[in-house]
Amino acid sequence: MITKDKIIMSLRGVKEPFFQKDFIQMNLIDVDLSENNINIKVYLKEEVFDKKEEIEKKIQEKLKIAFGEQIGNVNIEFIKVSDYSQVRRRVKLEVLDSKKANLGKVIAVTSGKGGVGKSTISINLALSLRELGFKVGLLDADVYGPSIPTAFGLEGTILEIRDKKIQPIEKFGLKLVSIGFMIPEVDTPLIWRGPMLHKAINEMVNQVDWDSLDYLVVDLPPGTGDAILSLNNSVKIDGAIVVSTSQKVAAADVMKNINMLKTLSIPIIGIVENMSFIECKNGEKIYLWGKGGVIELAQKYDIEFLGEIPFIPNVVQTMETGNLVMLTEQTKNIFKEFAKKVINRLNVISVS
Ligand code: ADP
Ligand code: MG
Repeated sequence: MITKDKIIMSLRGVKEPFFQKDFIQMNLIDVDLSENNINIKVYLKEEVFDKKEEIEKKIQEKLKIAFGEQIGNVNIEFIKVSDYSQVRRRVKLEVLDSKKANLGKVIAVTSGKGGVGKSTISINLALSLRELGFKVGLLDADVYGPSIPTAFGLEGTILEIRDKKIQPIEKFGLKLVSIGFMIPEVDTPLIWRGPMLHKAINEMVNQVDWDSLDYLVVDLPPGTGDAILSLNNSVKIDGAIVVSTSQKVAAADVMKNINMLKTLSIPIIGIVENMSFIECKNGEKIYLWGKGGVIELAQKYDIEFLGEIPFIPNVVQTMETGNLVMLTEQTKNIFKEFAKKVINRLNVISVS
């Protein structure tokens, strides 16, 4: 029997031409079945609306492959939109409400590029929020390079399932779940793409026994890939942090990252400049890659600048040995100030 779900599954691989991502994953296709008719609505940005014939052909092909001749009447309607956020707001209503799962406020930590300090910031933000007295979960969704197992000294840990719920690992007062805990061997090839990745992210959010949290910090993989789409489909993201370093700021990646968040209507908490300077013993600050690049970008895009985090030599060591508690008071204070800014911004965002 042809069902709505089967139709949706069969349309995997049909890409939205503007973002080059699956329509299905972007939630831009509606399917309606009535008697012998299949009515498909496709939402399409005006810039690429002229691609509709091509897309229609692809959809027909996919349906043929999946259902052969038994497929009845197919009507495909294209709806022109100026911005996909209009569509997504509609879809969002059907999405699991984060409040229902007691996730508190969901903070996504993003960047255009890897190696800029997303994981470092996610981990230290979570630890600081905890020190400020909140109940905090930390979710490591970086399929390409999960950091939490190493940073917390938990390599080889596998998550347990109890009462049909995945049990997070508790360490340093945080509830932890990492995609690294779901892949037993370090060198297991990552075949999680598309729907598999989507399923894993959805499970890590909605099937985990988070109990009740004040904040859930999510460490995302770099770039404008599928993970942010999956997260956005699985939960209401209350705000995103963009992490950048100044030497990479010129790269178009940061802008792509910001544009992606704006397109998905994810509120942006702000942009933070990581590893921006080294502080000498005499208090002098040496800016490694020049000063002011990230602020400029923040102004250009009209997003909040969350400040500079210096290059802190012992951060690397603590991250690699699982000795996060060894961070100095001074380092902890830097991240605590950052965490306070994040909380304030989240409060502003949620009332505006
Ligand atoms: P990402 O998650 O964006 O790939 P990481 O957080 O893993 O980046 O950071 C990349 C490397 O830079 C790691 O070795 C990390 O220890 C180091 N690093 C990140 N932020 C800082 C910082 N503020 N001071 C010193 N080293 C840092
Ligand atoms: Mg990382």
